[in-house]
Amino acid sequence: MNYYGVLFNIALSKSFIYKSNQDIQIGTRVLVDFHNRKKVGIVFEKIPQTDVSEIKDVISILDDKPIISQELIKTINFASYYYLCPKGLILKNALPSKVFLQEPVDFENNIKTQMNHEKFFKLNDEQKNIYKSIKLEKFSVNLIFGITGSGKTEIFLHLIRGVIKDGKNAIVLVPEISLTNQYKRIFEEKFLDTVGLFHSQLTPKQKFIEWSLFRNQEKRVLLGTRSAAFVDLSNTGLIVVDEENDDSYKQENTPSYNAKDLLIYRAKQLNIPVILSSATPTVETYYKAAITKKFNLFKLQNRVNNCQLPTIEFAKPYNTLLSTQSIEAIKNSLLNNQTCAILVNRRGFAHFLVCSDCGYIFRCPNCNVSLVYHKKTKDLKCHFCESSFDIPKQCPHCSSYNIKDVGTGTQKMEEFLRKNFGNINIERLDRDTASSKKNTYNIVSSLIDGKIDIIVGTSMISKGYDIEKIKLVIISNIESIFALPDFRVDEKALSLIIQTAGRSGRKEQGRVIIESKLPPRLECFVENNDYEGFLNEEIKIRRSLDYPPFSHLIRIISQNPSEQVAKQNIQKCARILKNGNINFLGPTKCPIDKIKNKYRYHIIIKSNDIFKTLDFIANNLYEKNLNFDVDPISFF
Ligand SMILES: [Zn+2]
Ligand SMILES: [Zn+2]
Repeated sequence: MNYYGVLFNIALSKSFIYKSNQDIQIGTRVLVDFHNRKKVGIVFEKIPQTDVSEIKDVISILDDKPIISQELIKTINFASYYYLCPKGLILKNALPSKVFLQEPVDFENNIKTQMNHEKFFKLNDEQKNIYKSIKLEKFSVNLIFGITGSGKTEIFLHLIRGVIKDGKNAIVLVPEISLTNQYKRIFEEKFLDTVGLFHSQLTPKQKFIEWSLFRNQEKRVLLGTRSAAFVDLSNTGLIVVDEENDDSYKQENTPSYNAKDLLIYRAKQLNIPVILSSATPTVETYYKAAITKKFNLFKLQNRVNNCQLPTIEFAKPYNTLLSTQSIEAIKNSLLNNQTCAILVNRRGFAHFLVCSDCGYIFRCPNCNVSLVYHKKTKDLKCHFCESSFDIPKQCPHCSSYNIKDVGTGTQKMEEFLRKNFGNINIERLDRDTASSKKNTYNIVSSLIDGKIDIIVGTSMISKGYDIEKIKLVIISNIESIFALPDFRVDEKALSLIIQTAGRSGRKEQGRVIIESKLPPRLECFVENNDYEGFLNEEIKIRRSLDYPPFSHLIRIISQNPSEQVAKQNIQKCARILKNGNINFLGPTKCPIDKIKNKYRYHIIIKSNDIFKTLDFIANNLYEKNLNFDVDPISFF
């Protein structure tokens, strides 16, 4: 008789023991009885012998081959350990849901190769040097640090061609679902029908199909967002993480994994190279590439076509949404039939509603944050719990009717532009318009085809789009970033400015107008487009404060409908940490101290020995009603 530990896609770390007289390989799907119901699980380990009594038999073995590789099992174990999260939850994230519904899986490889060699651009000398230096036969992490428009994509397209010729697959992670469409066009020109898509807006059925086709190599290049970090990489020879600085690679909810870091871990197991690409790499990545040399550093310092970087101006609007400088520039852009991009760092109409008489701010009753005024849908929305509320006529505090909106959101900017410029084609790209896949696809397609006069958007418009007709970029109102409770605010602001500015002048020199006052130190880096100078200065600051990359942070959050309980749990946690000689900040209320009717307290651990700290937490703080966020990027 053989004994097996079977893992389920539920929020538990432990596997359950079943027996079978057959020899089942690790990673195989089995059907078993779980609490009197038939359930699909994955054989995660073989158990030599056991003294547990009444072990149930495996009902049936669903596949004659493992559905997940040894490497993926190792990755799931690691992710569960590192991100302090139940293994079953990682498993649930790692496989399409259909797999757990007994959907038959085709194990036959059906390798397809299609390429149109004429569609590959010839690399310039700078690109060629990098292309030749990246070796495909073994593990390495390679940062391509290139200014916007320097042709980073071309380099990895050529590398992918090499990988495919060798009979292997490639995966390319991009930050936005809407970007997968633009990339799909570029990739399909070269790799025709062998390009797959994987992101969270696919239906369960589509997900299962894309997952299967990449596995059996009918699709050779997979374009995906964060959720693609767990696809089967058994036949993969290259991993690319584009716009590696993007926050979206980190999942905010449990399991709060970082797709970029996990893919580097997987590449090491698979002994294949990783390419990280960005015009504004993170401090952590740059540090590993330039200072400790754990990663290889490649720089691209010229734009393709030798086009100059845009000119940068600062302006200040007076009593209106945009400065006269910007309004004149927009008129010019329209006259010349170009596209103008305007970044507004907040969706909705206004930031919030306030009573002019007593200063009362309308807040979400479930979450302690101000509600955002959405004029289109005529309501107040909470951006944390997504509840919506009617617009109040009266102040609940002083009964005044004098209620005004404060701050600018994308909708207010759109309305302002329509009033001032009349009958032109204005589109908005933010999380409200992007909630439907078709809508985003249409907006991005019209942008690429040059049919839009003005595009207004949140940081979504900063991400990697390559649109020839954009010459003028206006960055409005990004002061709000500096109010975030986050040691990375300068990095986030500067990166957003440089990335957004980079959308301009892909064909001829563009113009960027920044309508915000920046801290003087940042202004100088923006004017000189000197992101590397910023990174080097920032590394010194991080070192002096012992922040990442010089330490790891772990955020522990206690949340509960009862404020008393939330507080008690975090205090208990603090005592345990203190007894364990763990260095931490807090406990304090979270900057947003109530979300979805739960009160929130947190502690931030600074660790110089991450694995020791993780072990301590796993042994002492697990299952004590706490949430963990390892290497957090948000501190709300
Ligand atoms: Zn009032
Ligand atoms: Zn809310």
